[in-house]
Amino acid sequence: MDELVHRERPSPNFNERTLPVSMVVIHYTEMESAEAALERLCDPEAGVSAHYLISEAGEVTRLVPEDKRAWHAGASYWRGHKDVNSASIGIELDHPGHALGYRDFSEAQFAALVPLVARIVKDHDIPRANVVGHSDVAPARKIDPGELFPWDRLAEYGLCLPRPEKLELGDPFDNDGAFYLALERFGYDVTDGRKAVEAFQRRWRPERIDGEIDGQIRAILFQLLLDRDRGHAR
Ligand SMILES: [Zn+2]
Repeated sequence: MDELVHRERPSPNFNERTLPVSMVVIHYTEMESAEAALERLCDPEAGVSAHYLISEAGEVTRLVPEDKRAWHAGASYWRGHKDVNSASIGIELDHPGHALGYRDFSEAQFAALVPLVARIVKDHDIPRANVVGHSDVAPARKIDPGELFPWDRLAEYGLCLPRPEKLELGDPFDNDGAFYLALERFGYDVTDGRKAVEAFQRRWRPERIDGEIDGQIRAILFQLLLDRDRGHAR
C-alpha cells in the first residue's frame, strides 16, 4: 500500500473518468467526525465520495482509486472544464466547517496533506494553478475549505500558487466588466459575479471577504495573470 495512506475504505460512489487528471480539489467535510464523514462518503444513497479523507489526527483513508471519477465537486467549473470530477483528485479534510464551528485546520492533518498532495501532483504532473479549493470551482454554492485553510503554507511547499507579494503599480481594469472577464480567464465561473468575487477573496485575500471589487483584489488578480503569462505560475 501507498505509505502515505493509512487505510482503505472502498466507496461504491464512483464511475469512469472522461478526462485525464489535471487538478486537485480540497474540501472540508463539515461533519462532527471523520467516522461520520466516512459513513456518508460510502453511502450509496448519499451519492458522494472523494478519493481521500484525512482525519484531524492525520489519518489518511483512501475511498476511491485515483484512476476512477469520485463524486466530490458537484456542478463545477474551472478553466473551461465543467466536469471537474473527471479532471480531479478530491481530498476531504475532516473538519466541522462553517456550519458546526469554523476553526483552524489541525497540524497533524496538514502534515498528512502535504506529502499526499506532493505525491499526487508529481504522479499526474498537475500545475500548481490547478490545486484549488471547492469554493474556487463552485463559487456560487460552496465556501470550503474556507479562509482558514493555509494556502500560503501549502504554497511554501510549491504545491499551489502563492499569493502574489509584489504587486505591479497601476489599475489594469477600467470597470467591473473587465475585472469579471479577467477573473473568468484566470479560471473562475463568474455566472454569479458577487459570489465569484467572494470565492476569489476567500482564496487570495482572506482577511476581507465582502464580494466588493476593490483596488487590492484588482491588483492581485492582475498580478496572478501576469505571472501566468510570463510562465512563472504554471
Ligand atoms: Zn466540498
